[in-house]
Amino acid sequence: MEPFEFTRAHDFDGALAQTRGVAARFIAGGTALLELMKLGVERPARLVDINALPLGRIEPQAGGLRIGALVRNSDLAHHPEVAQRYPVLAQAILAGASPQLRNMATVGGNLLQRTRCPYFRDGGAACNKRTPGAGCAALLGPHRGHAILGGSERCIATHPSDMCVALLALDATVQVLPAAGGGERAVPLGEFHLPPGQTPERETVLAAGDLVVAVTVPASPRAARSVYLKVRDRAEFEFALASAAVAVELAGGVVHSARVALGGVATRPWRAAEAEAVLQGHRPTAELFRAAAAAALHKAQPRRDNGFKVELAQRCIVRALSEACAG
Ligand code: SF4
Repeated sequence: MEPFEFTRAHDFDGALAQTRGVAARFIAGGTALLELMKLGVERPARLVDINALPLGRIEPQAGGLRIGALVRNSDLAHHPEVAQRYPVLAQAILAGASPQLRNMATVGGNLLQRTRCPYFRDGGAACNKRTPGAGCAALLGPHRGHAILGGSERCIATHPSDMCVALLALDATVQVLPAAGGGERAVPLGEFHLPPGQTPERETVLAAGDLVVAVTVPASPRAARSVYLKVRDRAEFEFALASAAVAVELAGGVVHSARVALGGVATRPWRAAEAEAVLQGHRPTAELFRAAAAAALHKAQPRRDNGFKVELAQRCIVRALSEACAG
């Protein structure tokens, strides 16, 4: 790990000021950032500890919830209102990492998780995300775990978060305090993460020094009928090969509205709007769920090693929808 300066912020102005003019990173739980610093992938000149900022609460807001960026993943998953009214969110968080990591990791840090692509973490491998213009070792090397949706010839790394997939199905919004000033700005989660395109090193819309302060989740009749399903190589402490977050509103025996989001198969949390369109207005049957799943993956671009993800993701969607619509 390279030497770095460590400072603490006690208010918002101080936090933003301490990132100006220096390659700084905010740190809270540190579960992801410190690991990448040890690997030499992240090399900040300064770490700004933001744990003293008042961002650790889950508060009701306009019928929904405002979740502070410093809320620990465990606290969010076990919050009674989340467990009862937003089950997909609780299930997604509990499907990720280990209890110890969930006790430390924060909502803000989870949003900013970086890929688990092994080449990204290996300083000896070519990686456009780590070193722009260096090439992408995953295109020719083993890429069983890589993306089949949203990739480019520059990068096919998957986004690792389970929580973000659930938040996408809940129409969540990220609240950002811009370093440039001007007060809090709301960014829909579907616009927060960027596709890799020609610049895979840019992963979110955040500018240098911008601070994520909260996530807001609106009240929705879909939220209570929501399910997260994750498939991985082992039962615990493993990232998704494919996952599905679904939220469904049934009315009069048909699907009134639905959200379908995918994880483990795309370069960012992936909203499957095509699947939602197939579902809307129809009776919830196994045949309908299969048609929705086919629509969700019809633009998939599997490569040599990861073609199995197409059917795996489709099966995740079918099973998650079946569970959500049961009862
Ligand atoms: Fe790097 Fe992306 Fe290629 Fe992985 S897939 S080696 S993260 S450029």
